[in-house]
Amino acid sequence: MEELRVKRRIVLVPVPAQGHVTPIMQLGKALYSKGFSITVVLTQYNRVSSSKDFSDFHFLTIPGSLTESDLKNLGPFKFLFKLNQICEAGFKQCIGQLLQEQGNDIACVVYDEYMYFSQAAVKEFQLPSVLFSTTSATAFVCRSVLSRVDAESFLLDMKDPKVSDKVFPGLHPLRYKDLPTSAFGPIESILNVYSETVNIRTASAVIINSTSCLENSSLAWLQRELQVPVYPIGPLHIAASAPSSLLEEDRSCIEWLNKQKLGSVIYISLGSLALMETKDMLEMAWGLSNSNQPFLWVIRPGSIPGSEWTESLTEEFSRLVSERGYIVKWAPQMDVLRHPAVGGFWSHCGWNSTLESIGEGVPMICRPFTGDQKVNARYLERVWRIGVQLEGALDKGTVERAVERLIVDEEGAEMRKRAINLKEKLEASVRSGGSSCSSLDNFVNSLKMKNFM
Ligand code: UDP
Repeated sequence: MEELRVKRRIVLVPVPAQGHVTPIMQLGKALYSKGFSITVVLTQYNRVSSSKDFSDFHFLTIPGSLTESDLKNLGPFKFLFKLNQICEAGFKQCIGQLLQEQGNDIACVVYDEYMYFSQAAVKEFQLPSVLFSTTSATAFVCRSVLSRVDAESFLLDMKDPKVSDKVFPGLHPLRYKDLPTSAFGPIESILNVYSETVNIRTASAVIINSTSCLENSSLAWLQRELQVPVYPIGPLHIAASAPSSLLEEDRSCIEWLNKQKLGSVIYISLGSLALMETKDMLEMAWGLSNSNQPFLWVIRPGSIPGSEWTESLTEEFSRLVSERGYIVKWAPQMDVLRHPAVGGFWSHCGWNSTLESIGEGVPMICRPFTGDQKVNARYLERVWRIGVQLEGALDKGTVERAVERLIVDEEGAEMRKRAINLKEKLEASVRSGGSSCSSLDNFVNSLKMKNFM
């Protein structure tokens, strides 16, 4: 009798951006620990392969894909769109070569929902595939809903202040203005991309970096609508830590934090893509300075339009910051959030930052920039009640008040208690017997069942 062969290779296809690379590499670690070998297929703009943390992984690069300078020139949205157009053939070539060299040992191709070009190769080689969503389940629900709206009338609703403040039917407590539209492209193109991302085609399952204690009803919605198993296995940064910073971390801020009082510091970071106007930064600096709280501020090179780093900021800004603040280009965010001196996180509310902050029990000041960050900010303020959202034009008075509410007032202490309570629930969900841990086991078992041939 022919010997049964278990397929043990999982091919991962990440989006080349920090917020997507981090969770998919964590997923890779989680699956590696379950006995799978991991092949990561990168575009030419990616630097994770050099990391010693992933020496057990196998890396391939899609030939002819876009580079870092394409990202700078095109902006994130057009970059992603073009990437999907040009990677289809190269990815087929990569998979074809892999099959030729290793034989067909591929248990499945796990592709980031934004790398939907992967489906062409999967179809051609008849491989099992799984869609991986690195955003919240609620953001996925929103993208599904948006992919069905009429772009023209939706745009009119968004422009009408009377409508944009209203709750969107069926998505309570999200208002029209909280829906994940993007600052990086026109609405029609965004809705088109959303239809591509939520179209699961032949994918046999969906994995989500979330957990039922955070998003039970959105997960149930997806489970009903998608008609394939949905596996919420997050937060992956707790389940399977895997350092994958694309920028160099400045650890000097930890020394600075060591000198600050317990729970006093506001940590400010807007993630890897959000931009910040100089006038807003000045209002922030004034507000932070007037609040008398120390602050650690990540100002990423290129995050101020028209400026390499901070050279466009005025002397007034430097004076305000030098009194109580500390600036770095990129921080070891997890170490910062778990530092006892940190009392609050001013965030753009990217999904990773949101999970990381909740995972350390740190309440947030929410200032979303674009896309799903608006969904997360609304949930932080209204559903989990561990955040203060700053809406409209930034001014120093509102900034000062938000910092006081979070760090000084009783309201902030209550938020912190709720955040710590959620932190404990997140930890329990990834422990043995917890919902995310069981979900990962179920996913692995489903692969093993399909693998016998
Ligand atoms: N991050 C970091 N250092 C920083 C700022 C951000 O390590 O100074 C990490 C952060 O821990 C998170 C990721 O970058 O894992 C940002 O992802 P997120 O989804 O929050 O936002 P995005 O960058 O996708 O907008």
